[in-house]
Amino acid sequence: MNWMTKLLRCIKCKGDLVLMERRKLKCVKCGKIYPIREDIPIIMPEKDVEELENVKVFNELVDRYDSWFVSEKGSILFKNEVRALQIALKGIKLGQSMEIGVGTGMFAKELGIGYGLDPAWQPLLLAKKRGIKVVQGIAEEMPFKNEIFDTEFLIVTICFLENPIKALKEAYRTLRNGGYLIIGFVDKESPWGQFYLEKKRKGHPFYRVAKFYSILDINRMLKRTGFSIRKMVSALLQKPTAKPVTEEPVSGLVREAGFKIVIAQKSVV
Ligand SMILES: [Zn+2]
Repeated sequence: MNWMTKLLRCIKCKGDLVLMERRKLKCVKCGKIYPIREDIPIIMPEKDVEELENVKVFNELVDRYDSWFVSEKGSILFKNEVRALQIALKGIKLGQSMEIGVGTGMFAKELGIGYGLDPAWQPLLLAKKRGIKVVQGIAEEMPFKNEIFDTEFLIVTICFLENPIKALKEAYRTLRNGGYLIIGFVDKESPWGQFYLEKKRKGHPFYRVAKFYSILDINRMLKRTGFSIRKMVSALLQKPTAKPVTEEPVSGLVREAGFKIVIAQKSVV
């Protein structure tokens, strides 16, 4: 069975989808049509999302965003973040995995994540080239069926969501019982958080639209949506203004760490 019909459902009526002559998906219940372009199912019509600030910027500046990962400074920070995520994932089976806000797929590729969701079309094309099976849609209204993923990721994405609580509820719904949600984010109260807040104030194209959170905010939102917090890993203890260096992440919570990872579990007793 095609992965699209196996994993996706209608966002309007929750009905199953069937494949029509390979170019579109159709809801068996309400008849809604979802086009497929470049092997990517389109869940939200472009006109509905392309004008949203947090979608527009990633479509327009996709090359600038993607080139950060290979830049002199960015590549070192990226490696530190990936290393921290790998350490956080120790002992956790990835299974069927999905990254919410997959962007250009850099993290997903490094971590071996199978599926990705993002509203911005241009980044999705790159993620697809990197071998990720991607879906165009939003985190707050996921087109996925209930309880199909073993692990879900939100990596430097929660700050760009319109409604993080709604997105976390959707993550909870689509995770299997016992499944994990891995959140990696820049802590608002760390020196790195302050550094990015300053960029936001100055109108930086990406951070202008970002809403940053503290570890307390994240943990509160996770608990509110039913998750149990299992583990934390801290990285980027170096100063944001210094020349980036490779550093070893620390298990547990270090207040001043710029990049923090929280592993939360859906555990229904
Ligand atoms: Zn439907």
